[in-house]
Order: sequence, then structure tokens, then C-alpha cells
Amino acid sequence: MMEIKEIYELINNIGVLVFSTINGDEVHSRIAHFNGCDEDGIYFRTMANKPFGRQLIETGKVTVCGISDSKCLGYEEEGTPNFPPSYTIRLIGDVKKVAPEIIKEKAKTNKALMSAANDIDKYPAMAEGNFVIYKAKGEIFDVDFDCINRDHKLLRKRFSFGGVPFNPAGVRITDACIECGKCKKVCTFKAIEEGTPYKVREDRCDDCGSCLMACPVNAIEESLTF
Ligand code: SF4
Ligand code: SF4
Repeated sequence: MMEIKEIYELINNIGVLVFSTINGDEVHSRIAHFNGCDEDGIYFRTMANKPFGRQLIETGKVTVCGISDSKCLGYEEEGTPNFPPSYTIRLIGDVKKVAPEIIKEKAKTNKALMSAANDIDKYPAMAEGNFVIYKAKGEIFDVDFDCINRDHKLLRKRFSFGGVPFNPAGVRITDACIECGKCKKVCTFKAIEEGTPYKVREDRCDDCGSCLMACPVNAIEESLTF
């Protein structure tokens, strides 16, 4: 179980992330950042009269994702992917506006919200520009493909706050398993453990599907989105 503060710290360490909203039958994205958290959720701001703000108010929904090190998108000369240890985080949340007097009150004891409180006085439009994601579910993908810091490639964690349920990660092996070991052999993520039946570690599974293709008796079920 992850605390909101822990989730916020991972997000804040990335700094700038992609925020997407729904605009009619379109999905719209932009770059933004968060500016604080408390037990009520994770805060960010944008003027309410911008398209971003209007979409947030109209739908009450936002999705956010980011990566801690975007250098991982390169390739070595011989074609090997260059993927240094990094993590991605993504979440789907319900969002609502926060009144300026509430931001100012919270900022008295929450330093991270001080810039939001100051902006309310500086920019008239910012009075209506504070939002909080008050419930959300999401996932962290911590990758180390060259096994520099550990002996397996992926450490994956799902989370939620505000009482949102979420599905476990990874593919699942059913009782139809005949314990042939073919799935374990093809899994380069060290995510499969022997047993009756064999088991998938949800914190290591990448959902790549290699094991599904290898299983002779279709004993592996596809993963669920969170
Ligand atoms: S889906 Fe990929 S990572 Fe997950 S258990 Fe199967 S082979 Fe391993
Ligand atoms: S490949 Fe299928 S039958 Fe064989 S161990 Fe894995 S899940 Fe079980």
C-alpha cells in the first residue's frame, strides 16, 4: 500500500509530466507539473478558463504519465537499446477544483502549496486555477534492463488512493498448468516461479506475452489493465 506522499515524491522527482484530458470525442495532452499533496490528494494548477482547465471541470477526469530519465530512448551504434535504470509512473484520476481560500489555508502548514497560494494574489485567473486529484489508481514501472542495480529487469507496483479499487498486474497461470516449465524458460524477466501450478510474480511481469505463446495447454491468462 503506497501513501499519497510517496506517490507525490516519485512524481515530483520527475518534475514535468504529460497530462491528458477528454475533450468531446478527442483526447488532449499537455505538459504540466504538480505542486503539492496532502491527505486529500495531489495538487496542480492551470487557469480554469484555459481549454485544459475547462476540460478538467467538464469531465472531472485526468490521466498523467512521466518518465524519470528520457535518455533511455536511444540506441547504441550496433542497435542495442540504451535503457539506463529509470522509472515511469502513470495514473488515472478524478479531479476537482479547489477554492482559493482552501489553498491559502493549507499553504500555512504545507510549504509545497505556498507557490500556489502566492499565485492566487499575483494572477487574478489563478484564483480559479487550483485542482486536486482526489482519487486515482496507477502504476510504477521501475526498469533496470541491464540488471545494474539488481538481478532482474523490472520492479512493478500498482497503487491507488481515495478508495479506488485496482486489478493485480501481470499475466496469471491457471490450474490447467501441467508444470512443463516452458513459460519459465522464455521469461527474461525472471517473473515465473515453479510450483503447482507455476506462478507469475506480478511485481516482475512485463505483460510481454512470451509465456502465453510458449504454453502448450493455454494455462496462462492475459493481464488486466489496472
Ligand atoms: S508475460 Fe512476459 S514477463 Fe510476464 S511472465 Fe510472461 S514471459 Fe514473463
Ligand atoms: S508453460 Fe504452461 S503448462 Fe508449462 S509450466 Fe508454464 S503455465 Fe504451466
